[in-house]
Amino acid sequence: MTSAALPAPDSTRLNALDRAALHRTLIAQVEAAYRLCREVHPALPRPAVWLDLRGKCAGQAHFGRGGLRFNPVLLDDNRQAFLAEVVPHEMAHWLVHHLEDAGRMRPHGKEWQTVMRRLFGLEPRATHAFDTRRASPAPYRYTCGCREHAFSARRHGLACRGRVYRCRRCAQTLVYQTFMGR
Ligand SMILES: [Zn+2]
Ligand SMILES: [Zn+2]
Repeated sequence: MTSAALPAPDSTRLNALDRAALHRTLIAQVEAAYRLCREVHPALPRPAVWLDLRGKCAGQAHFGRGGLRFNPVLLDDNRQAFLAEVVPHEMAHWLVHHLEDAGRMRPHGKEWQTVMRRLFGLEPRATHAFDTRRASPAPYRYTCGCREHAFSARRHGLACRGRVYRCRRCAQTLVYQTFMGR
């Protein structure tokens, strides 16, 4: 298998999605990955999906809770990478965990790598390639007439492309001041 077996929506379309549509797209991608896994493991239970992960971790297969957790902040800023890499990465953990000798396998060991290569057509990598700095909640500082406002990278990007934000209290247009990240 040489190409990714999962749908790969283009980034322009992905970036235009609002948060609800983005979350639906993520869940649909989990379902597509799950269906692929069912072809090799028909008894595999369907994982629940939560978007409740915080900090620098993009995704996590949580076997105690019975599902996959994803980081909504990182998803927002790394949409294509999430669909193309994070979803199959976590689904591969889910599949390997439900194989017979799962207890003896290392998390990113050869079974997991085989699933990534053969089933998803991906190069197995233990960590995700994207930058997690953006997970720091809101490093871009804006001001209005009355206070400072903290913007996320995504919101800052929208402002750069012409979207106007106003302060709810003083109604002035917010003006970019500085980047507070490292
Ligand atoms: Zn992993
Ligand atoms: Zn204000």
